[in-house]
Amino acid sequence: KAKDSGKNTYQFYEKKMTEMALQKIQLDADIRKALKNREFVSYFQPKIDARNGKIVGLEALIRWIHPQKGLINPNDFIPFCEETGLILEIDKYMLTHAIKQILKWQQKGLEFGKVSVNVSTKKIESSNYIEELSYTVESLQFDTALLELEILEGQIMKDPQKSIDILNKIQNLGISVSIDDFGTGYSSLSYLKKLPVNKIKIDRSFIIDVPKNKDDVAIVKTIISLAKNLGLQIIAEGVETKEQLDFLVQEGCYDIQGYYFSKPLPVDECEAFIISKNRGV
Ligand code: C2E
Ligand code: MG
Ligand code: MG
Ligand code: MG
Repeated sequence: KAKDSGKNTYQFYEKKMTEMALQKIQLDADIRKALKNREFVSYFQPKIDARNGKIVGLEALIRWIHPQKGLINPNDFIPFCEETGLILEIDKYMLTHAIKQILKWQQKGLEFGKVSVNVSTKKIESSNYIEELSYTVESLQFDTALLELEILEGQIMKDPQKSIDILNKIQNLGISVSIDDFGTGYSSLSYLKKLPVNKIKIDRSFIIDVPKNKDDVAIVKTIISLAKNLGLQIIAEGVETKEQLDFLVQEGCYDIQGYYFSKPLPVDECEAFIISKNRGV
């Protein structure tokens, strides 16, 4: 009897495993099709200088507009793409896609500072990345001074020595680099000093409970002064409340990204947001 149920359990797992494998194959095929059919679009989230309310930048964030399932957020497919290597195609697509939109807004005379695009270390460490990157910006005639790449701290710190060389080459193109989700990736301070980056973005997890939580207050203050002492720019993500905003400004972190000012917006809504800010509303 026990043997039988053991066998059943085994068959159950075997069936589950097969189902999961099939789901992955399906998702892989769906994403390839989505790339071909241009189902991926960019939303843009404004970054604001809290001192004057001006837009200092826009972050491009991928969204999948699935013909049947509707809007799908990156957390539901980006990790999978990282796993399978599809992220190489996704990041390539998004860079061009985001720059093209930014160019349209520039032609309309809108002002919004820099555009930042998220990029996986799998991508920047892939062969010919620098050639691909410089080709993209050159062929679109995009001013590299207006482009920033956001790279996750945790990914950089997996092999910082490998990243340093590539980050230098990116900076040599005139493109800036920001460390995303800072505080979650166990940066070694000796590497942080050597990393050719321009900016640190404080992770949302530390912002959620400031100014109430004493530990988070201490951590955020430390990250801000670390940035200042290393000569790096600083920005906070995930700012939702006036209390969080006031705390950050008081501590000298003026660049703010979060629902307090705006959620990531589809193109037309973002355009309206930029226009209203440009008018000084
Ligand atoms: P991220 O780069 O750290 O982007 C910030 C995330 O926080 C975004 O989630 C944004 O919608 C969310 N967020 C911003 N402000 C607030 C706030 O005030 N409250 C809350 N609760 N959330 C806020 P999203 O758009 O779902 O993106 C998730 C992650 O997916 C991104 O995190 C980024 O790591 C990744 N990602 C997005 N687009 C791309 C891409 O084109 N390439 C790659 N490699 N990764 C991407
Ligand atoms: Mg980011
Ligand atoms: Mg982030
Ligand atoms: Mg994040």
